[in-house]
Amino acid sequence: MNDAPDIVIIGSGMGGASLAAGLASSGARIVILERGHQIPDDAPARDPWRIYTNSAFRSNETWLDEDGEAFEPGNYYNVGGNSKLYGAVLLRYRAEDFSALEHFDGMSPAWPFPYEELSPWYDAAEQLFQVRGDAQSDATEPPHGQPYPFPPVPDEEAIRVARRRLERVGTKPFSLPLGVDIDRWLDAGQTGWDGYPDTRCGKMDAETCSLRTALAHDNVSLITGAQVTELRTGYKSSRIHEVHYRKDGEDHCLTPGVVALCAGAVQSAALLLRSGVANLSGYVGRCFMNHNATAMIAIDPRFKNTSVYQKTFGLNDWYLDDGEDGKPLGNVQLLGRVTPDILKIQVPHLPKFAARWISGHALDLYLISEDLPDPESRVVLKDGKIQLIWQRSNMTAHRKLVEKTRETLKDAGFPVVLSRLFDGRVPSHQCGTVRLGNDPATSVLGPDCRSWDNPNLFVCDAGALPTSAAVNPALTVAALALRTAETIKKDLAA
Ligand SMILES: Cc1cc2nc3c(=O)[nH]c(=O)nc-3n(C[C@H](O)[C@H](O)[C@H](O)COP(=O)(O)OP(=O)(O)OC[C@H]3O[C@@H](n4cnc5c(N)ncnc54)[C@H](O)[C@@H]3O)c2cc1C
Repeated sequence: MNDAPDIVIIGSGMGGASLAAGLASSGARIVILERGHQIPDDAPARDPWRIYTNSAFRSNETWLDEDGEAFEPGNYYNVGGNSKLYGAVLLRYRAEDFSALEHFDGMSPAWPFPYEELSPWYDAAEQLFQVRGDAQSDATEPPHGQPYPFPPVPDEEAIRVARRRLERVGTKPFSLPLGVDIDRWLDAGQTGWDGYPDTRCGKMDAETCSLRTALAHDNVSLITGAQVTELRTGYKSSRIHEVHYRKDGEDHCLTPGVVALCAGAVQSAALLLRSGVANLSGYVGRCFMNHNATAMIAIDPRFKNTSVYQKTFGLNDWYLDDGEDGKPLGNVQLLGRVTPDILKIQVPHLPKFAARWISGHALDLYLISEDLPDPESRVVLKDGKIQLIWQRSNMTAHRKLVEKTRETLKDAGFPVVLSRLFDGRVPSHQCGTVRLGNDPATSVLGPDCRSWDNPNLFVCDAGALPTSAAVNPALTVAALALRTAETIKKDLAA
């Protein structure tokens, strides 16, 4: 292998693989270093007990919480990163999310550029991930340059009934844009896909879409089991000169022209802190965000939920205001199907028959509200370990969203509505720790995802997002990565 490739990309998840897809046709010699391995074809990928209890897929890594207590985070290290387990909801941030927005508990700041700047890259990302959707069905959907490549994934019969019930009480359910080939997915197993790892059977994720595109080019190579341990600048230079990584117990070093760090919001911040680079602002690790999210189960004994995958519609009725001239509340979307096994795993003391009954008569939802950037909400290193000090924000909006949704479901004929707030041990929508911005004093990256301090260093993963909005982050990460590929290509051509 050439030890001095043109570009090293660290991480093969949503950001890294999409960046590689965008750069591959340039002919530049690109090496992707991925800490994990490919999820094998014969992995227990449809067995909830293996996924949610003795996790066959999580690493045994621990982080520290705010009080210094160790916990196992729900963070996945494998080819394709967290996208291998994701729910494949591929929503764009709304146009308003790029402007300053007043929330109940503070301001969401403006991005350094408007929605229109990212819109063509969203188009490209939707093509890359073969998104199934309907741009007309949601009033908050921003303008598209191209229609969705495929029509929406159809509602199952029980979900169609639930959608009608919600329409009848005045809400406007819309079809979730999804990256799933539903026929292929179901052929390989009768389960939902949200939280289930993909063994290349129908989920459109960083491995099956972006990485596959990139690796079709001879100039792109992937090294797995390669954990990057340090970035070093050159002598009297601010350029990143060396990328050190560990593979099979041995240390290696590459000296690329360009380094793109895409290890995920928490790990990218940790690597920069460990390496002591890109942090003249002191903002690396700060402004950690993770959506305020609640799982909700709405039960009606007359409703029979016979669905397998469920996750096909959402509600943005209160996305921009609470419906009473108030402020934004957030997004509601169906969860992947909460089967009796999953319910039993989450509530172990529940008798099996009760889990079966509840699951058969319930609609399962996921409620997301924006978390606002706060410099005191942060990733730090404590004795070399990652410590996550998450200061939740904007909980007024989230509590209102939970109440609005609860009332709506009751009006729609679900008399019992149970809910549970996700805690900080599930950082699935982590972002913001290596934020882009206009001001080098309060951001780590410029608007083009380039480090203010190290001119050949780019960060394009969820860490770059300056706000969390209240939609799932992956499509925005991919769009930013595809846009950054163009910047890097121009650098290489200069
Ligand atoms: C269960 C679950 C469901 C989700 N559902 C959705 C959804 O429906 N829609 C949505 O938009 N988002 C969803 N997400 C979030 C989405 O997966 C992430 O936002 C997205 O993957 C972030 O992309 P990323 O590039 O920042 O990080 P990742 O995709 O996690 O990629 C980071 C990569 O870097 C590698 N890495 C880390 N450290 C190192 C190192 N030191 N050296 C080398 N490699 C390293 C990791 O192994 C990983 O492959 C979900 C996440 C989870 C966990």
